[in-house]
Formats: sequence, C-alpha cells, structure tokens
Amino acid sequence: MTTDIKIAEAPPGHTGEGFFATSLDKVIGLARSNSIWPLPFATSCCGIEFMATMGSNYDLARFGSERMSFSPRQADLLLVAGTIAKKMGPILKQVYLQMAEPRWVLSIGACASSGGIFDTYSVLQGIDRVIPVDVYVPGCPPRPEQIIDGVMKIQELVKDESLRRRNSPEYKALLQSYGIL
Ligand code: SF4
Repeated sequence: MTTDIKIAEAPPGHTGEGFFATSLDKVIGLARSNSIWPLPFATSCCGIEFMATMGSNYDLARFGSERMSFSPRQADLLLVAGTIAKKMGPILKQVYLQMAEPRWVLSIGACASSGGIFDTYSVLQGIDRVIPVDVYVPGCPPRPEQIIDGVMKIQELVKDESLRRRNSPEYKALLQSYGIL
C-alpha cells in the first residue's frame, strides 16, 4: 500500500540493533516543532491569506499546526498578520505576555513587519517595536506558500533550540530591552 504520510526524521543519535539513543532536548525539540499551536492575531488583509493557508488547498495541518488557539495560554506561536495600529500595540504585548514559555513570534507581511505602506502617525512601524520577533515573512500580502515557509523556519528554530536557551542571559537581556522581566 502506498501512502503520502511523511514520517518526521529522527534526531541525531546512536542506533544499534533494537535501540536508539539521543538526548532529551533533541526529542523535545522534535515533538515541539511538529506540534506548534498558533494563535492568529489577524487584523486585516494578510489575515485573509492566513485563512487560505489554513484551507484545504494549503492545509497548514500537514505541519502539525491545525489546532488554532484563541487562548494565549494554550498557544506557543503568535502569528501576527495585518496592520497594527499604535493603539493596538499594548494589547498585542499583553497577548504575548499571557503566552507561556517557550513562545515564538511570526510576523506575517509588510504591515506587521514594518508598518508597510502605512507610514502614518497611527500605525505601528513594525511589531518588533513592542515584542521580539523570531521570523519575518515579506510581502503585501505574502502568498500562503510564504506563510508556510515562515512556519517551517519557526519549526527549524524550535527543533534546534536548546532547552536552556530561554534561560540564557542573551534571551533575558532581549526581553528586558522590551521592558519584560
Ligand atoms: S502587508 Fe499588505 S496585504 Fe498585508 S495587511 Fe498590510 S496592506 Fe494588507
């Protein structure tokens, strides 16, 4: 019987007859990267592209991310898609703060990443003014393939991230630079 189901690659380790050994952080990285629960923070047109990404044609579920979370407490990837007004900045930061560690942020499209064409008094010129961003997806709007590429880049980060990175002085300093203790 042929099947299109792709089995996730095993992490590097030692194998022999009847056993496979690797380190705990690689196993956890493998599990986390293939079961990312996204929280979509979609405000405008890029959100529509994200809806297409979730649809049957592009099917983000193939990457283990079919379970959207509208509760920050049960999400580990914040997907920001659309124009973010300055007034919305503190709300976005509050949502980020309500997510438990480990957490990642994907900025989808020109507006979320840089304010896009809206260089005006009311629009935040990039969400990285209020929260740290892990991966940026360019485009106005980005196609679903680009959003999937961004999610896959997040998966690479998640897979290889040390369990202790989130306790590292560099990460703490990054959060402190955003006023997050
Ligand atoms: S980047 Fe373009 S498509 Fe996306 S929200 Fe901004 S104006 Fe809309």
